[in-house]
Amino acid sequence: MSAAPSQPRLRFAPSPTGMFHVGGARSALFNWVIARQSGGTLVLRIEDTDASRNKPEWTEGIIRALSWLGIDGEQYEGPYFQSANADAHRAAVERLRAAGLAYYCECTRENVIARTGDQHKGYDGFCRDRGLGPGPLRATRFRTPDEGRTTVVDLIRGKPVFDNAVLEDFVIARADGSVTFLLANAVDDISQGITHVVRGEEHLSNAPKQQLLWEALGAAPPVWAHVPVIVNEKRQKLSKRRDKVALEDYQAEGFLADAMRNYLMLLGWAPSGDREIVPWDVIEREFRIEDVNASPAFFDVKKLRAFNGEYIRALPPNQFIAACLPWVTKAATGWDGFDSEVFERLAPLAQTRVNVLAEIIEMVDFAFLDQPPYDEASWQKAMKDPAADILADTEKAYRDAPWEAGELKDRLERVGAAHGLKLGKAQAPVRVAVTGRTVGLPLFESLAILGRDRSLARIAAAGARLTRSTS
Ligand code: GLU
Repeated sequence: MSAAPSQPRLRFAPSPTGMFHVGGARSALFNWVIARQSGGTLVLRIEDTDASRNKPEWTEGIIRALSWLGIDGEQYEGPYFQSANADAHRAAVERLRAAGLAYYCECTRENVIARTGDQHKGYDGFCRDRGLGPGPLRATRFRTPDEGRTTVVDLIRGKPVFDNAVLEDFVIARADGSVTFLLANAVDDISQGITHVVRGEEHLSNAPKQQLLWEALGAAPPVWAHVPVIVNEKRQKLSKRRDKVALEDYQAEGFLADAMRNYLMLLGWAPSGDREIVPWDVIEREFRIEDVNASPAFFDVKKLRAFNGEYIRALPPNQFIAACLPWVTKAATGWDGFDSEVFERLAPLAQTRVNVLAEIIEMVDFAFLDQPPYDEASWQKAMKDPAADILADTEKAYRDAPWEAGELKDRLERVGAAHGLKLGKAQAPVRVAVTGRTVGLPLFESLAILGRDRSLARIAAAGARLTRSTS
């Protein structure tokens, strides 16, 4: 990083007000990478001052999710809790008031609107020079300079300049004495020695106000970097009401941590060359916060899935099997019988086909259920004329077949040919008879693993079902 002090101190400062968001995860990763590259320190600060919206389980979720991404307790200083710094927050408000840099204000929003006639305008400075002392219903506002400009040095956005005259005298302590985000965040950053504030774009408008607070409190402001907003396919800001944003949900669906963190790093940044899937050490070597793009980053779930598929295919087979186990173990409680040896034979076939680990279940369940998990739509699609003949002839052809994929394929090919069907068409009814579905693992390998008796019984049962339904 350019102009970085020798020992940068960065922080990730989430508010534990809900499930941990992919945008938060991206900010955490950016901060972490910068800290590691620069020999600096990452501080984890939980901004838990808003007691009505915070829950300990959200904090636990954040810490768990960070650790899943590789940012475990060894990787950061903390966690610090903002609520533990309440005395310092109050003291800072006092200091600013004593220095004439903040003042008491008793205006309600309605008062301000009545005076300015404008809903959207900021505070009009009415109490600025009234010299009010403390009292019930009196908030404290920061006295922003009337003149001059505040230049925010932002590694992504250059040097946005804000006219001080347009910055309203913002509230730093509410009438009930509680401090606002702007104040608490600045005080904590100062007391934790933060040198670089890397956070979401939605905080850009806070930066000049906070920078003024840093200066008023006698601290040299940090270097800022406001990372781009994340949008969905409709170019709308990712939102928890509309989009799948919780990191935990991606984890539950079977996204791999390595794939996820590689993908998250691409939200605003790209490695050199024509590649996107890159090992973490390359990311750590190449990432430069100055190269992050200021324009919105598209969270492309389809691409993420494809990405994850690539990561899954790159796993050594035994690791793939191990990675699937949580899903399989859970599903197995609803199966008729689970056989880990059978699963280990099916797994390599599935490894080339799943994009998320949860998809493994639909691919292998046929082997662990007494009945294939028929779904009616697949049945209707596959069981068209001459399906009944195909099933009957296949059963016959298979009875004495050496039970091996190549041989099973040849025999079904011949059965199909006798009815004027190519293999692709001829295998559809057999596939549905045995696996319950029209798509899945390669059929002949699946039959070989399922075994002669179970396969033949399913083909016969499907034939009988079909005859019943058409007679
Ligand atoms: N607690 C703030 C948030 O979650 C973070 C503010 C910051 O990083 O400065 O949005």
